[in-house]
Amino acid sequence: MSGVPVRTLSILGATGSIGLNTLDVVRRHPDRFRVYALTAATKVAEMERLCREFRPAVAVMADADSAAQLNDALSDLAEVEVLSGEQGLAQVASAEAVDTVMAAIVGAAGLAPTLAAVEAGKRVLLANKEALVMSGKLFMDAVVRSGAELLPIDSEHNAIFQCLPADRIRDLPGAGVRRILLTASGGPFRTHSLEMLREVTPAQACKHPNWSMGQKISVDSATLMNKGLELIEACWLFNTTPDQIEVHVHPESIIHSMVEYVDGSVLAQLGSPDMRTPIANGMAWPERVESGAEPLDLFALGRFHFERPDTGRFPCLRLAAEAFRAGGTAPAILNAANEQAVSAFLAGELCFADIPVIIEQTLASVSVQAADSFDGIMAADAVARTSARAEIDRLARRSLAT
Ligand code: NAD
Ligand code: MG
Repeated sequence: MSGVPVRTLSILGATGSIGLNTLDVVRRHPDRFRVYALTAATKVAEMERLCREFRPAVAVMADADSAAQLNDALSDLAEVEVLSGEQGLAQVASAEAVDTVMAAIVGAAGLAPTLAAVEAGKRVLLANKEALVMSGKLFMDAVVRSGAELLPIDSEHNAIFQCLPADRIRDLPGAGVRRILLTASGGPFRTHSLEMLREVTPAQACKHPNWSMGQKISVDSATLMNKGLELIEACWLFNTTPDQIEVHVHPESIIHSMVEYVDGSVLAQLGSPDMRTPIANGMAWPERVESGAEPLDLFALGRFHFERPDTGRFPCLRLAAEAFRAGGTAPAILNAANEQAVSAFLAGELCFADIPVIIEQTLASVSVQAADSFDGIMAADAVARTSARAEIDRLARRSLAT
């Protein structure tokens, strides 16, 4: 086919759930998408397999050891250059040859390369919500300055994006929007009592009823911190405030979010819970391409349900709204404390119900500064991690003593 625009991609976090779904869309459209670079943390065998299939010009591993192992494994493929560390990530995020960067590293580790892609003015497909939560204004100012094309991949934000006029996504009053209805599945423990939440295991938390995702976001979905991070993400992406956003728990995960207009119209985007839909939407935008997602069968579904979120059992949503309102480095502190608490829960060191306790304590004990530089934000991240870790250890000692 001639005349099809070809996009050249760097995929940050290629071995993860979003990365592999992105590569599946690439695989379906070899005439439209080329892979320039793939990156991963330490999964060498998985990266070798992906490099053999997609033949990127560059592969980046998080550390020098993993990079050396990958280099050895690919010794017969001289065309793949193997790099490592933050410098390698920044290089492929901003390379001249690349027009599109999929930002799909999980957590704060994705901030620097995602910002590098923004500063280089790329089309940035944003899955890594933690990067935007941490650096909000700094990130959006860089988007405006560089002319980067920021497209949301998080299914809710992609849905909202699709329900807004393309030239007004940061001018909701001008677009006639009354509010955003952000949907949430409610996670695997939606109907659990507080007592039951104390007993849940990492395996149960990682088994999401509708979506198959990485471990960290699965736990975030179970605590509702994922919705809290998404509330902050929506405020920055659509230039609005938590007052204009109402979370609706919708356990079927078919309506991915809605926009309500002043004339009473409510526009929604629906689809099977499959991340290839928002990924393909961002990759091909403003065109549409086949993604591999199952067509929606509304007859088989029959009905939809909606509930208000319960911030008594799931305080993370309230904590995130408070951190956004506090401003400055508060969302970075919230994010860092959450990352520490989630990894302690996954390691069996912290009970599920104590995740919000650690976050609330950390927000109370770390002082909020202006978030006007990358270094300042990373310093807040480091202080919050130390403080959260100390609190986790204190709770562990207390539970041993009782
Ligand atoms: P995942 O754990 O499956 O994959 C994470 C990827 O990041 C892997 O490739 C891993 O190698 C890489 N990585 C991890 N730590 C790294 C480090 N320190 N340095 C370099 N690379 C590192 O996670 P995921 O579920 O694919 O989520 C990725 C991001 O997308 C998260 O921010 C998540 O919130 C967001 N997101 C995911 C989904 C989903 O359905 N999985 C939906 C919406 C948003
Ligand atoms: Mg989401």
